Amino acid sequence: MLIQKKYLESTVEITKVEEKDGKFYAYAKTSPFYPDGKGGQLGDRGKIAGVDVLYVYEKGDEIAHQVTSSIAPGIYEVAIEQKRRKDIAQQHTGQHILSAAFLEIADIETVSFHMGEEYSTIDLDVPFLESEVISESEELANRVIQSCYAIEEIITDIEGSKNYNLRKPLSYKVTGEVRLIEIDNFDVSACGGFHLNNTGEVGLIKVIDTEKVKGNLTRIYAVAGERALKYFQKYNSVLKKLSKMLTSSVDELELRVEKLLNQSRDQALLLSKISQEYATVLSQNLSNKGLVYLEGYSEVGNFLAKIGNFEESILVFYDNSKYIIASKKYDVRNFVSKLIEKFGGKGGGKSEFANYQPAKKLKFEELEEVYHEVYNSGKDQKG
Ligand SMILES: [Zn+2]
Repeated sequence: MLIQKKYLESTVEITKVEEKDGKFYAYAKTSPFYPDGKGGQLGDRGKIAGVDVLYVYEKGDEIAHQVTSSIAPGIYEVAIEQKRRKDIAQQHTGQHILSAAFLEIADIETVSFHMGEEYSTIDLDVPFLESEVISESEELANRVIQSCYAIEEIITDIEGSKNYNLRKPLSYKVTGEVRLIEIDNFDVSACGGFHLNNTGEVGLIKVIDTEKVKGNLTRIYAVAGERALKYFQKYNSVLKKLSKMLTSSVDELELRVEKLLNQSRDQALLLSKISQEYATVLSQNLSNKGLVYLEGYSEVGNFLAKIGNFEESILVFYDNSKYIIASKKYDVRNFVSKLIEKFGGKGGGKSEFANYQPAKKLKFEELEEVYHEVYNSGKDQKG
């Protein structure tokens, strides 16, 4: 792997340790632990004096290591997770190749890069990306990977960097030493992160999603190396399960799902029509005075509340979980308030229509009692 010397040291000198909100932070002037987020890259993990390092960041001119327990100041051996470094180098090298591929295929520049624990994102300087551009860039990037080009680390300065055709000009902030990562004749970029010695080690790179982001940019999500294999394994397994569940080949899955969704929409529409018709039939045989109590499906209850004649009555419809309550004579909110007061639960609505969700189903006698309590005084009648 191409890693700067300072990250290859085997010890760290901890100068002080702070405890804050039950968390421990060990500080050092320099550290072999790469800080999280520096240059868009993930940070190192591992151990200092046998204590786990959870997070690493630059604080002023110091490096802070969040550790699982306190360490006394001193010089300690470090153990840095090499498997994680390999993954980081795969994602980072993959990003250089993919960014260069977008530039070559469609003259699209990379604005920024961010590596996460599951995928990396690259913000491209275009408001929209055509899918052909993505697949062509992806294909070129993978051809570069399969060509097993050597990758070189070049240490120079600003003057020396002018001999190279950099993909992106150096930031005006850069002073002193300049580190370049050169991928054969394909790409040269200034970068301080971890990279591989050979493009073949990236294995595979795949764009997995795109998103429009602020400032007219397009963000692409990508996975490389082991992550790309894991991604393929996961999605392949989901697709295989789906195709078994829907008794369809993967190629016909889209059509099959579309058909099922249409069927389901048609059935929902039919169910709604039947509920409406049934509610109409029910409404013709209801008493038009006092408390009208029914049980059934909520679709039927809701239609009934809408179309029924409750000029002189109140509908209380139980759908096996809540009560649908409607009346054109009474303010049903008073009924719901009383039910909550006596039996708990929750509910609310408007004066002509409300819902009440009890803790458990009420007896008809209990509903009747509340009805008499609330309305027989005559005070709550509308008009
Ligand atoms: Zn890099």
